[in-house]
Amino acid sequence: MSATEASANPQATAGGIGIANLPNQLHKIVTKKGTNFSLMVVGESGTGKTTFINTLLTTELIEPLDDATRRKKQLDKTVDINIHKAELEEKMFSVKLNVVDTPGFGDYVDNNDCWLPVVDFIENQYEQYLRQEQQPVRKGIVDMRVHACLYFIRPNGHTLKPLDVRAMKAIGARVNLIPVIAKADTLSPTALRQFKKRVMDVIDAQSIRIYQPPVESDDDNSELRNREIISAVPFAIIGSTLEVKTEDGRRVKGRQYPWGVAEVENDQHCDFRKLRSLLIRTHMLDLISTTEESHYDKYRTTQMKTRKFGEPKPKKSDNKKFREEEEALRKRFTEKVKLEENRFRQWEQKLIAERDRLNKDLEQEHNLVKQLESEIEAISNAGSPNNKFFRK
Ligand code: GDP
Repeated sequence: MSATEASANPQATAGGIGIANLPNQLHKIVTKKGTNFSLMVVGESGTGKTTFINTLLTTELIEPLDDATRRKKQLDKTVDINIHKAELEEKMFSVKLNVVDTPGFGDYVDNNDCWLPVVDFIENQYEQYLRQEQQPVRKGIVDMRVHACLYFIRPNGHTLKPLDVRAMKAIGARVNLIPVIAKADTLSPTALRQFKKRVMDVIDAQSIRIYQPPVESDDDNSELRNREIISAVPFAIIGSTLEVKTEDGRRVKGRQYPWGVAEVENDQHCDFRKLRSLLIRTHMLDLISTTEESHYDKYRTTQMKTRKFGEPKPKKSDNKKFREEEEALRKRFTEKVKLEENRFRQWEQKLIAERDRLNKDLEQEHNLVKQLESEIEAISNAGSPNNKFFRK
């Protein structure tokens, strides 16, 4: 695991992102020290995770992989977990942001269980927090629990892949999962609308648990905005840290095409602004509290039921149930091998007996042929002119 430290430019966040709203939002839990927020990004390589994070923070927090490193990474056959730290500050309020990146996810020929390191990481953070909570002195607790996981879906225009379904099911059961359709500019508006619908249909049909932002608010405007945010799920986003010039002369973050500019912050082009608002303006508090009250609590309750206070989490190999299952599996395997061996031996013996029988038959035939040959020879000798009975 590697950790890089970076500090996002405070000026860059001023005005646009709206961190200024956080003090109101987090009034209950946040002191002058600010708060911790951990955001995880998961998805196949090349779906635009790095670009999205850098666009979100208006800085190059994560260095994009060049093609050679990307290819080399694919040969490693591992999913890395990298943590990048940034500090966002506005009006004396600071958010310590941890971005958890997962290069290598879904990159290999066999991607079965490639989400396990992701799930392990999420659970390990709960476990570490649980242990610290159980200490007599609980000052200075390090809290790396993941508050939101953005799952990047490749914009293939069809639907979710089986890998996506399995990974999203496993991740969504443990953390606030937010589905994101990457590179929205590569699909036409109609194709994007249909793709979004198909993705949501699969999410419903497969009972994948995704983050449900609350709608209710004290004022009507916020409620309306919340409804707009919810209706955009899965968020279609365009990522770019580059400034380009639009036809009407505006300088915007976007991607330049011969037909025009795909703008990052234009609601007509993508849902970037809605997602950014959900993450760091309107729903940060809810993401933090649902992590605490729902996901972490579920983990804590399950662990408390299966182990005594203060007892370390058993490794898979220490787990009695796991050991019994392994033993039963080994026994079944040995029995099956024995059975197959017997079957093979019987079959081999049958083959040998058949071979012997055929050899015997062959020998008999051979003898018969020999006998017939000598009879023919005898007859032809008897009829030859050299035979004294034929001589005159
Ligand atoms: P990661 O491997 O998931 O971190 O993907 P990167 O962020 O490194 O992006 C991979 C490639 O996709 C780069 O060439 C990016 O410039 C490009 N890219 C990223 N976001 C977008 C987007 O929204 N639209 C398009 N068309 N390309 C994108």
